[in-house]
Amino acid sequence: MAHKMAKNMKYETIIGLEVHVELATKSKMFCGCPADHFGKAPNTITCPVCLGLPGALPVPNKKAVESTIMLGLALECEIPLESKFDRKHYFYPDLPKGYQISQYDQPLAINGSFGNVRIRRVHLEEDTGKLQHATIEGEAVSLVDFNRSGVPLVEIVTEPDFRTLEEVDVFLKKLQQIIRYLGISNADMEKGSMRIEPSVSIRTLKTEELPLYRVEIKNINSFKFARKAIEYEIERQTEMLESGEQPKQQTRGFVESKGNTAAQRDKEEAHDYRYFPEPDIPPMRWKSSQLSAISRQIGELPDAKKGRFMKDYYLNDYDATLLTEARARAEYFEKAVSIQSSVVSPKAIANWIINKKIDLEKVTPAQLLDQILQSTQTTSVSDNELEKIIKQILSENEKAVEDYKSGKDQALMFLVGQGLKSLSQKGNASIIRERLINAIKSSAQ
Ligand code: ADP
Ligand code: ZN
Ligand code: MG
Repeated sequence: MAHKMAKNMKYETIIGLEVHVELATKSKMFCGCPADHFGKAPNTITCPVCLGLPGALPVPNKKAVESTIMLGLALECEIPLESKFDRKHYFYPDLPKGYQISQYDQPLAINGSFGNVRIRRVHLEEDTGKLQHATIEGEAVSLVDFNRSGVPLVEIVTEPDFRTLEEVDVFLKKLQQIIRYLGISNADMEKGSMRIEPSVSIRTLKTEELPLYRVEIKNINSFKFARKAIEYEIERQTEMLESGEQPKQQTRGFVESKGNTAAQRDKEEAHDYRYFPEPDIPPMRWKSSQLSAISRQIGELPDAKKGRFMKDYYLNDYDATLLTEARARAEYFEKAVSIQSSVVSPKAIANWIINKKIDLEKVTPAQLLDQILQSTQTTSVSDNELEKIIKQILSENEKAVEDYKSGKDQALMFLVGQGLKSLSQKGNASIIRERLINAIKSSAQ
C-alpha cells in the first residue's frame, strides 16, 4: 500500500470522456422504424434504410436534431449556425452500409462546459446493429441483429479535464441527470442507452503538456465498470512507466469477467475513416429564432431547481438535492406543496417523500397529504406550552415572518413546520397555523 501511494504521488492521471446516448425519439435517425429497440425480437424493426440496402435514402429525424441542440445548450455550448452530416467509413458486420452517418468537422454543438469540465463537442450520429456470439450445432457463430441499426445516437466529447475517478463519477451522474431532465433519453446504462468510453493517460507531476498517447477503453455499460476500467488502466500504465516503458496509443476493451482491459487494436486516426460530407442530406442552417424556440423547451435544470427549492420552501441543501434528483420527484413535491387547503409544511412533505420512500406512482400528492395529516396526532399540548413555542418560533425566524407579511404563503408553512418540530410532531398543524397568524397580526399592530 505504501508503495502504491508513493507511485501515485509521482504521477498524475489524465482522463477524457466520450459518452454515447441513444435518444428516445419515436422513430430512428434516418427512417420510420421505431427507435425503441430494447427487448424486441431480433431483426423485427428494420427497413431498407437501416439495413443499408442500395438506393435507400436517409431522411433526418427533426426531433433528434432538436434534442441534440437542447443538450448542447444545456451544456453551455455554442450552436454554430451551420452543421452537416458526414460519412465515417469502416468495416464491421454490424454496420451494413460500410459507413456510419455521423458528424465530423461541423457538429451541432461545440465549446461548452459542464461544471469545470470543458465540453469539446456534441454531435449526432446513428447507432450500429448488434452482434451476438453464439454456438449453433457445436459451431461458434456470430449473429447480427439490426434492430438498433440507425437509432439516433448523441456523442458528447469532453476535453481531457479529469484528474481523478471521483471527478469522472460526479460528471457522469450529473450528465445522466440532466439528460433525463431534458427528457431526451432514459440514459439507462444497463439498457445500453448510455455508454462510456474513457481515455486515460498518465504523466509525471509538474508536466504541463498532455502525454502524447491516450488509451481509449470501449464496452463500458455501468458506472462501476467505468471506475474499474480506469483504475485498472492507471495501475497498468503506471507500472509501465515505472519500468521505463512508454504506453502505446491504443484502443482497449473492458473485460467484465476479469475486471481488466485487453488490447483491441492500435488506435486509428481520423484519416483512416475517409470522412466526407453525406451527399444525400443537405447541410442544416439555423435561424436564431429556431434556436431560441429550442432553447425555450429546456425548462428548469437540476441546479436551478435545487436553488429555488431552498429559497422558496426553506429546505436545506440535503433535502433540496434529493427532491430534485429526478424531475418527476421534484414536480410531485411541488404539486403536494401547492395544494392550497393543506396545512402541511413543505419540510414535512419533503421528509415523507425522502424518508418514507413513498411510491410516487401509486400515491397521489393529495393522498400523501392525508397520510401526513392523519399521522400527526392532535393530543394534549397545553395552551401555555403552545404560546411559548409560538413566541419562540416568531423570534427565531424573523426572515420568514417578514416574508409572510409581504405575501409569501410558503413562509407560513415553514413556520408551521417549525412548530410541529418543536412539539415533536404532537401538535395540530391547523391550530399552530391559526395561532401563528394571530400572533403575527397582533404583533403588527
Ligand atoms: P482524436 O483527435 O485522436 O480523436 P482527441 O484529442 O480528439 O483524440 O480526444 C478524444 C478523447 O480523448 C477526448 O475525450 C479527449 O478528452 C480525450 N483525450 C485526448 N487526449 C488525452 C490524453 N492525453 N489523455 C487522456 N484523454 C485524452
Ligand atoms: Zn428502418
Ligand atoms: Mg462516435
